Amino acid sequence: MTVVFVREGERAYNIGIWELCPLGAFQDHIILAGKLTLIVVLATVLLTLVLGRVFCGWLCPFGAFTTLLGNVPSARKVFSRWYKYWALLLVIAATAYLMTVPVFCSFCPAAGAFSIFGPARQAATPELTYLRYGLFGAVVIGTAALGNFWCTSLCPLGGALSAVSRLRLFRLRVGPECSGCGKCDDVCEMNIRVSKEEGMEECNLCWNCVEVCPYKDIAMGTIFS
Ligand code: SF4
Ligand code: SF4
Ligand code: SF4
Repeated sequence: MTVVFVREGERAYNIGIWELCPLGAFQDHIILAGKLTLIVVLATVLLTLVLGRVFCGWLCPFGAFTTLLGNVPSARKVFSRWYKYWALLLVIAATAYLMTVPVFCSFCPAAGAFSIFGPARQAATPELTYLRYGLFGAVVIGTAALGNFWCTSLCPLGGALSAVSRLRLFRLRVGPECSGCGKCDDVCEMNIRVSKEEGMEECNLCWNCVEVCPYKDIAMGTIFS
């Protein structure tokens, strides 16, 4: 759905998908100080401050793809969540240092995927375009075999959103009726230990845990509840 919207937007308004990707926009803003990019970045930060990583769960087309492909519960807990924060720091440092090119777009497997189907942001060099295709292939194979490790552990945009999400206003809470059955943990797309409320800043509001809880004991609360 999001992909169709973006493709139509590209045709109608001559904009690239990277201008709607918060990480692409963030890099562009560091380099170009563009107004559209600032709006995309601020809107995403605001949305995340209210609802957490809802961008990941409901708006990101690449996340939709990896979630569909990588719904492998038995293989989900392989990778550390912390890699994506290091990836984010690297992206920020490299973009600020080079100041001429949005570095991550040259490597981004999502850009690799989109450049297969239509025009996508150019990589900095032709060689990097091939690397991008290679990374996309590695993410596809790895996700099919190991689960959605890209979104849980490696995506630097996911790292940025998780960091902001720690301050979110609304969040899912486990209530007092919880029996500890662990069904919510088993269905969580983001590998969160929902029953213990551990790692909830990663929550993308997919709603799986709410639906599966036999006691209907997971509900939306606020930072104050
Ligand atoms: S972690 Fe990255 S690729 Fe995955 S849904 Fe979030 S922004 Fe998209
Ligand atoms: S599914 Fe419901 S009852 Fe079971 S562990 Fe999760 S919150 Fe508790
Ligand atoms: S299963 Fe629950 S805790 Fe996990 S991502 Fe979905 S809504 Fe969030």
